[in-house]
Amino acid sequence: MRMPIFGRGPDRPPRFEVVKPKKRDRELTSRWSRAARAYLDKHPFCAECQRREGIDVPAIVVDHIVPRHYGGELWDRSIWQGLCRKCDLGVKRPLERLAVEMGDVLLLINWMAKPQTRPGRWAYVAIAVECDDAERREQSKVGR
Ligand SMILES: [Zn+2]
Repeated sequence: MRMPIFGRGPDRPPRFEVVKPKKRDRELTSRWSRAARAYLDKHPFCAECQRREGIDVPAIVVDHIVPRHYGGELWDRSIWQGLCRKCDLGVKRPLERLAVEMGDVLLLINWMAKPQTRPGRWAYVAIAVECDDAERREQSKVGR
């Protein structure tokens, strides 16, 4: 069954057709969007903006620090981070390309946790480390 791509408004016909996903894919997609929403409820702000500038910018995507198509495990929450659109497209994607070029996507784990280890212009000293630690202490107090 084929269906139109949504989002172009009622007055504009769909530009492309896509193959409707199989039932299993739809279940996976809705399970993922529920999990991602729950994650963003708990981690509502962009991790990169907090690291870089210590500011709270609403996160709109849940990013896999190790991209899924390079072996990142879909449900491994330890490699999830919330990002705003700007950091997703302007920081994380270029860093992913760089890590792939350097032949080691696992570099991304360190680059995210310790931005000072990133190459060249991507390197900086994170200023929100203390906030993260305080948050972790707060979470361990309530037994998570
Ligand atoms: Zn951001």
